[in-house]
Amino acid sequence: MIILKTDEEIAIMAKAGQIARECLLRLGAMVRPGIRTIELDRAAEEFIRSKGALPTFKGLYGFPATICTSKNEVVVHGVPGDTVLEEGDIIAIDVGATYQGFVGDTAATFPVGKVSPEALKLIDVTREALERGIEQAVVGVHVGDIGHAIEGYVKQHGFSVVKDYAGHGVGRSMHESPTVPNFGRPGRGPVLRKGMVIAIEPMVNAGRSEVVTFPDMHVVTRDGSWSAHFEHTVAITEKGPVRLTVV
Ligand code: MG
Repeated sequence: MIILKTDEEIAIMAKAGQIARECLLRLGAMVRPGIRTIELDRAAEEFIRSKGALPTFKGLYGFPATICTSKNEVVVHGVPGDTVLEEGDIIAIDVGATYQGFVGDTAATFPVGKVSPEALKLIDVTREALERGIEQAVVGVHVGDIGHAIEGYVKQHGFSVVKDYAGHGVGRSMHESPTVPNFGRPGRGPVLRKGMVIAIEPMVNAGRSEVVTFPDMHVVTRDGSWSAHFEHTVAITEKGPVRLTVV
């Protein structure tokens, strides 16, 4: 069942989204060679709680941390710990904040120091793929159109989208209907309606699409190629897509 949100609920979700995004941008500014991912996680939890919000991911499905830190070949759900970021790495950071019962969910991938041109291209293509997906998020369009736009753009650049994980509806729960895959066929899947709120989140691999999931939930590319991830929480409105995860 797809839960539609009122304008008042969307206003609260925008506050949750703003907290999540501000947290993400602060973490991005902390990314540098030598920092451990657990340090980013501690800063994230402190920031989110200081805003009167809760770290959405902590405890969800047993996840032990506030943020996901997914380095290089890790696609998503990397668990913060003693992993040290090194010059040339890329790090995807995913943040969830719950404010007054509603969730904001956002992610971005950052270069650590100077990275290879290929890694920069992967980041740029994934960021733009998210833009292509958001453009589609208008009333009357189908969920399949979003995935079609994302995958089409990614393929043009010689990369592949992850198919085992997807975007999702967001509300009082982090994961609501509908599922929002990063691939699809135009005109297929649920129709977008005013009041829907969805997280659009392309996960793009430099190599092949296949991934492997480990027991602690972290996901890696099967071929060892690097992967990038960007995400915004977006409300479907009569005026078009409205990003809720913005500062
Ligand atoms: Mg998400």
